[in-house]
Amino acid sequence: MKILSVNAGSSSLKFQLYEMPEEKVLISGVFERIGINDSFYTIKLNGEKVKKEANLKSHKEAFEILVDELVSNNIVTDLNEIKGIGHRIVQGGSYFDKTVVVDEDVISKIDELSALAPLHNPAAIVGIRAAQSVFKEATQTVVFDTAFHQTMKEETYLYALPYEWCDEYKIRRYGAHGTSHKYIAAKMSEILGRTNTKLITCHIGNGASISAIKDGLCVNTSMGLTPNAGLIMGSRSGDIDATIVPYIMEKTGMTPKEMDHVLNKESGLLGISGVSSDSRDIEEGIKDGNERCLLAQKMFVRRIVDYIAKYYVELEGCDAIIFTAGIGENSKSTRREVIDALNVLGIKIDEERNNTRGCVALISSDSSSVPVYVVPTDEELMIARDTYNLAK
Ligand code: ADP
Repeated sequence: MKILSVNAGSSSLKFQLYEMPEEKVLISGVFERIGINDSFYTIKLNGEKVKKEANLKSHKEAFEILVDELVSNNIVTDLNEIKGIGHRIVQGGSYFDKTVVVDEDVISKIDELSALAPLHNPAAIVGIRAAQSVFKEATQTVVFDTAFHQTMKEETYLYALPYEWCDEYKIRRYGAHGTSHKYIAAKMSEILGRTNTKLITCHIGNGASISAIKDGLCVNTSMGLTPNAGLIMGSRSGDIDATIVPYIMEKTGMTPKEMDHVLNKESGLLGISGVSSDSRDIEEGIKDGNERCLLAQKMFVRRIVDYIAKYYVELEGCDAIIFTAGIGENSKSTRREVIDALNVLGIKIDEERNNTRGCVALISSDSSSVPVYVVPTDEELMIARDTYNLAK
């Protein structure tokens, strides 16, 4: 059965087509600058990447071109061969604790939650509508970044603010990257050969979050009402004293929108280093003796360590710590610095094993009190698995 995994942004559309249940990727790609000038798309097929220009006025046109490509490349003869389409949704609020089949009620709830994810939820609805109009027979599903974290207890997800705000304004911790944390937990259970596990999953990319997972269920996670909570990220501040916000707004006359922009786009590694939000640039800067890059990296690592330590206590120990995403899978130095700071708990790195990049690997020493792994994440595959299960 062919299943399409879709991630729609306001001007982009990423896709990956799978043969399920074999989990084989048949084709993948991304449409960019939809509705803007100079739009184009790239397609990856048989290990080759091709870029093509196209006038993409809407997401619907992108899906139509995708169908043409699938047919001309002999991947399908009839578009009805695609039985399921899974859409990634950033914010599912308290409504959704699992992947569901799309209907009008589901769409109106996603729309209602747009206030909490103004860039993402409306774009996803555009993607769903476009897919419905092109793939009329397929089962459309929605896979939420927040769903996996719905098992957190009230005392964990509430903020110590007026209790009514949770009901009135939906203010609470929802978390994000849930599809990735769930994938890593499932993969780790497979590696350890059991499901009763206590895991700390570290999704460290440009966006970054850590989760505490017990027996496959999320106990706590570092992102909050929005993704800008917890860890220091590429350009996001992560946790700060909330009172800084009104203080700076009063001092500078910044609007809420401007403040939000600084907190999400001009803070984090970029804000401290003044150089870049990209960890590779920070690593280069450190090599060149840039003090602010070094400071940014120290702060970045410190916060990761703080959350691992916090969740180690909350889980009352743990069976594995796992690194994933761009930095987690690739940056040897970040992993080493984090693990070195955890030596006090008996957690130790194996320098040789830590040379790994982008594949499943144990990177801790045999004498480490907790094994530490690198496991590449695969959110698209999780979307395809859930969609396959609902479509079949
Ligand atoms: P997101 O999906 O949140 O945009 P990614 O998971 O793609 O982010 O991670 C992007 C981050 O991963 C960037 O900071 C980038 O520098 C880092 N990264 C990717 N490859 C490497 C590498 N080889 N060494 C160090 N960092 C890397």
